[in-house]
Amino acid sequence: MKKLMVDMDNVITDGRYLDYINEFLNTDYKLENQTEYYLQNLVGDRVDEFWKEFGNKNVYQDAPLIEGCYKALEELNKKYEVYIVTAYFWGGSNEAISNNIKDKYNYLTEKLPFISPQNFIFTSNKHLIDSDIVIDDRINNLSNGKLKLLFNAWHNRSISNDELKEKGIVRVYNWNDVLREIENYN
Ligand SMILES: [Mg+2]
Repeated sequence: MKKLMVDMDNVITDGRYLDYINEFLNTDYKLENQTEYYLQNLVGDRVDEFWKEFGNKNVYQDAPLIEGCYKALEELNKKYEVYIVTAYFWGGSNEAISNNIKDKYNYLTEKLPFISPQNFIFTSNKHLIDSDIVIDDRINNLSNGKLKLLFNAWHNRSISNDELKEKGIVRVYNWNDVLREIENYN
């Protein structure tokens, strides 16, 4: 069976991170209008205060799956060894970091019950893992796939088609695109 590696943040779910920032700043920022990868930059010099207040919050609480994700992964899970590969180390206290793994684990087992928790890989070193198909919203994490799918996100919009072509990466805008590209690849 071929291996498929799928990223969690901004591929499976957008989480509630921006909601917490909006709550803190009393703003109404939308993901689609952002440009920088690190949303905490919106907080500016209040970042310490922000971490203190929100560092231990569950970013996945009540966070919906990205549209089409459940059905697509359920289908792909029948044909591929699906691994969810996600970074958990975002900084903050030891408690915040270990809570983040726990929150990710609980979210994935609840929302995608057909994927074995044994196939969850929590690491910041995704480049160490080889796979046949990789789906991620950061091009740096796509180096080891044979089929490399860049999941469209606010922070990767400015990457040109030429650059993607040069790196053998295909941009996908949604989970229907993912299914289509994988089908065409086989
Ligand atoms: Mg991601």
